[in-house]
Amino acid sequence: MQLFEFSDNTLQIHSIKFDDFGRLYVSAREFDDLKGLPTDEIEERSVELLRLSVDETLTGSDVREWMRLICDWSGRSKVHIWHYIRDSSDDVLLNETNKACKAICGFHDKQVGERTEEDLDWALGGAIQAFDDLNGIGISYASKFTRFLAPEHSAVLDSYLSGLLHIDEDKQSYLNYSRGCRTIAKELNDLGVQRPNCVGGLWRAADVDLVLWRYVDELKVRKSTKRPRRNTVTVDPDSNTNESSKSRLDHTRRNILFPKAPMGKVEGSRCSEVVCQKCFGEVALELREQIRKWHKKGLSRGRDAVSFWDAIRTGFEQGKGGEPRKIDTQDLICEHSYGPFASEDVNLGQGCQNTSGLETSFWFAKNLRGVSNRNAWKPGVNLARNIAMQFCERKVNCEVQGVNWCETVLFKEAAIELEFAPRESVN
Ligand SMILES: [Zn+2]
Ligand SMILES: [Zn+2]
Repeated sequence: MQLFEFSDNTLQIHSIKFDDFGRLYVSAREFDDLKGLPTDEIEERSVELLRLSVDETLTGSDVREWMRLICDWSGRSKVHIWHYIRDSSDDVLLNETNKACKAICGFHDKQVGERTEEDLDWALGGAIQAFDDLNGIGISYASKFTRFLAPEHSAVLDSYLSGLLHIDEDKQSYLNYSRGCRTIAKELNDLGVQRPNCVGGLWRAADVDLVLWRYVDELKVRKSTKRPRRNTVTVDPDSNTNESSKSRLDHTRRNILFPKAPMGKVEGSRCSEVVCQKCFGEVALELREQIRKWHKKGLSRGRDAVSFWDAIRTGFEQGKGGEPRKIDTQDLICEHSYGPFASEDVNLGQGCQNTSGLETSFWFAKNLRGVSNRNAWKPGVNLARNIAMQFCERKVNCEVQGVNWCETVLFKEAAIELEFAPRESVN
């Protein structure tokens, strides 16, 4: 089935329900924020950049710093792109960026009622052209800079997504794709679908693009992690009688990493993507252990996952200040397990068969405790759940045992991504 397509300059989304936009958006934003560069902050800087440009007080080093933030934000390609910007002269950076700002501000200066799609194409086209003229910068990166100057109107022409949608990487295609994202943003807004965690709740072109990107990224991750899985992991004692305990351990590990039985496709709704409490706990403890071992004191992903695990297992959420708070215990953990449950928050809560009937979530307990960010534990919980999903049988009486979780693909990926183990030691 085609997920979505881009033809006749129209973006058609076949596979993402409008209801899913909020979830994907939050997940994508978390993913970006985890890299330590919240999108919101760069957007604020970009507003400032436009203002400085209008005032003619923008400097080349302001521009360079702003571009560096966006390079960091976009992650992997940074190495290829950053040195071009670093080595460009202040004058060149400033000149092209001023051109881009001028194009965007020209549009903003028009009365709302007088703005046409052609005006907008002209503005975005002018901006992306200016950035594209910088040495070493192509349309894809130019679209990232433009996106931050005009998030309401501009998408990012990410090369992965454009490959999937068969969009050429040129200016006209970027304009068409941005227009497609704007149309969908408008539909969402007309339907009253709220964009989470923002004032006003309105969708913008950049947000729609982000959701599509996250959607294909999730698919990509799922595909690459869909590996065969053993039903149970045990060591045959007879075959190991002459082996030392060390090699027996290796043997176990081999069995796990090169499993025998193919993994059955998990049918049904998203909430078949559950893990059992035992596998989750093993991963959480291992994460905490490994992060500690590498002296990553500031990285709380493991501690957070363990706190959540303790809470849903014992029925008591613990935290700084105040008594433990009673919450519902859960045997299976799905993406809704963290809360809020549908019964707790009509706007944010989502119902699913796994959490139906539950009344008090971890999220709610943190909320009552008055913590500043009640979602703060969630990245750790999501990480542990993802890693556990690789081998867990996804049922209450899961019989998987003896998995050396820190040797699994997703654990190693997390170690590299979060830098809690040196590259050599996890490869
Ligand atoms: Zn669920
Ligand atoms: Zn399990």
